[in-house]
Amino acid sequence: MPIYRPQHFDEALAWLQQPNARPMGGGTHIPDADDPDRVWVDVRGLGLDAIERDRGAWLRIGATVPLARLARQDSLPAGLAALVRATAPPEIAARATVAGTLMAAHGATPLAAGLMALDANTLWMTPEGEEVIPLGDVYALRAWYTTGPRLMTAVRVPLAPRVAHRPRFSDADAPLALVVAARWPRGRTRLVLGLGEAPQLVLDGPSPDGWEHALASRYQALQAAARGVSWEQVREWARQVLREVWAE
Ligand SMILES: Cc1cc2nc3c(=O)[nH]c(=O)nc-3n(C[C@H](O)[C@H](O)[C@H](O)COP(=O)(O)OP(=O)(O)OC[C@H]3O[C@@H](n4cnc5c(N)ncnc54)[C@H](O)[C@@H]3O)c2cc1C
Repeated sequence: MPIYRPQHFDEALAWLQQPNARPMGGGTHIPDADDPDRVWVDVRGLGLDAIERDRGAWLRIGATVPLARLARQDSLPAGLAALVRATAPPEIAARATVAGTLMAAHGATPLAAGLMALDANTLWMTPEGEEVIPLGDVYALRAWYTTGPRLMTAVRVPLAPRVAHRPRFSDADAPLALVVAARWPRGRTRLVLGLGEAPQLVLDGPSPDGWEHALASRYQALQAAARGVSWEQVREWARQVLREVWAE
């Protein structure tokens, strides 16, 4: 399995112009690992491992920051560190990168559901320049984003909202489903259902009004993926997380 380790973006993008080349982060979840024709471009030499304040109210998290380091970061939105810690066991979290985790995520990947609730933006480098793409749009077109000459360079996360999730991960280390709510200081509320192939946005509004109806229709659409996680359970999780983020 050939792995290239470029030190510059131009070199990395040139490798990724090849149809059989893909970016690699920590390498813990690479598809087609046995494919002899696949070429991997390890992006960890590109200096994408900083975590820094961005215009005061945002945090810019480099694509190759390992989950273990992100979990130790002081200035995360309230409630996010628990989701980072729950995403992979410690031996994997030491290597797994933020971008690799988001691109390999399923619906109930805690970091992905948490960042979706926070309406995070992803930053991409392409031969045409930098692009800013909402995480939800990446999941809507994931096949497109996982091929071609582009790579995620960072994630931008607002610091003001707080997030809450269920189940609590002491109850279930690798949940089949989860619910995450985020609330901004002025009341904007987002509710995400972590189920199926990617986290699903249930509600984004100035208040949680209408959450139960919106959640029921999302759950129904994904029921085949629910594998024993009942509607009553999901509804109760949503009630709890919304109460938690709205508690003063
Ligand atoms: C033992 C074990 C237990 C695990 N338990 C859980 C669990 O409980 N819950 C859970 O959700 N996950 C779990 N995982 C999955 C784990 O979270 C992922 O393997 C890991 O986060 C992937 O990160 P990585 O940096 O190694 O990505 P890689 O394996 O390097 O890449 C993964 C994908 O992302 C793409 N990619 C990587 N970097 C970039 C980039 N910069 N731009 C664009 N695309 C990129 C790659 O092309 C590839 O498609 C587990 C994995 C293992 C091995």
